[in-house]
Amino acid sequence: MTEQHIDTVLLSVGHDLPYLTGYTAMPLERLTMLVVPRDGDATLIIPRLEAPRVVEQPGVFDLLPWGETEDPTALVGKLSSGSSRIAVGDQMWARFLVELLPHVPGAEYLRAVDVVGALRMTKDQAEIDALAAAGAAVDKIAGELQRGEIELVGRTEAQVSAELSRRIIAEGHDKVNFAIVAAGENAASPHHHAGGRVIEEGEIVLCDFGGTMAGYCSDTTRCVFTGEVASDVAEAYEVLHEAQAVGVAAGATGTPCEDVDRATRKVIDDAGYGEYFIHRTGHGIGLEEHEDPYIVEGNSLPLAPGHAYSVEPGIYIPGRWGMRLEDIVVATLDGPVSLNNSDHRLVSV
Ligand code: ZN
Ligand code: ZN
Ligand code: ZN
Repeated sequence: MTEQHIDTVLLSVGHDLPYLTGYTAMPLERLTMLVVPRDGDATLIIPRLEAPRVVEQPGVFDLLPWGETEDPTALVGKLSSGSSRIAVGDQMWARFLVELLPHVPGAEYLRAVDVVGALRMTKDQAEIDALAAAGAAVDKIAGELQRGEIELVGRTEAQVSAELSRRIIAEGHDKVNFAIVAAGENAASPHHHAGGRVIEEGEIVLCDFGGTMAGYCSDTTRCVFTGEVASDVAEAYEVLHEAQAVGVAAGATGTPCEDVDRATRKVIDDAGYGEYFIHRTGHGIGLEEHEDPYIVEGNSLPLAPGHAYSVEPGIYIPGRWGMRLEDIVVATLDGPVSLNNSDHRLVSV
């Protein structure tokens, strides 16, 4: 906060608050707000009825519960008064900020990610262990998919998605974040919503799934082919497989994030599929399924030990098929470590 000349950080709904306090705000109209002044003690303003859920942390923050007829925004305003630069969490509801504006006239508002983002981005060993455990759990499901233990042909994408979701919970996750199942031409839409399309013999099935386990997220993508792999698909998959491996290997500490994107993209460009790789190479992961650092052209941030991110190139041919291969990788002084280790080949099921 001193470096960024920020007087007060305000955190509400979102992941910065639990990262710093262990408490997750209810996404409700009743305001919860951690007020962190640069000098002085932090205060957690909280609806009185939610206060029993807070595990108090003396020396970390004071608790200030508010009653149903009080104006909590005025409390935030009072604790923030005199601030000229206030940083707010990305996921704070707009209504809380709009209501706060008249209480602190003249203040400049910034994003709290400038303060908390750097802390959250660099995972300690306990966080890496949590990501690895979540990764191992989805790898197990990927293995089941690749061994043909999850029925595909004759079922709808939505049915398979529901089964992946059940398995994500059965493997120890607390919640499912997504279970994309996209068959054939649907796989050309990277975030396809699994629907009523029935999976047939002789097509690619893209599965991208993950959840949250003990606070930390998993996220992996594997494709399987129902029957003998079509030659155009096999050819493109060779390129994708190599691009993904090159992208993972490119993640030495000190390497700018954009160089990982470039290394991955170059393989796909050189093979002539460049126009079909329509998204960035990856995203950071931790408490949130997408967070800093983003593996994208324009992000010159050098990778540092503890950075955790996805490497997930894709090739998407509209109207025909799509494919993506995704692992979560942690940057370490000994080189990049992949947290997803299920078979990287396009398995025929
Ligand atoms: Zn995605
Ligand atoms: Zn991802
Ligand atoms: Zn994914």
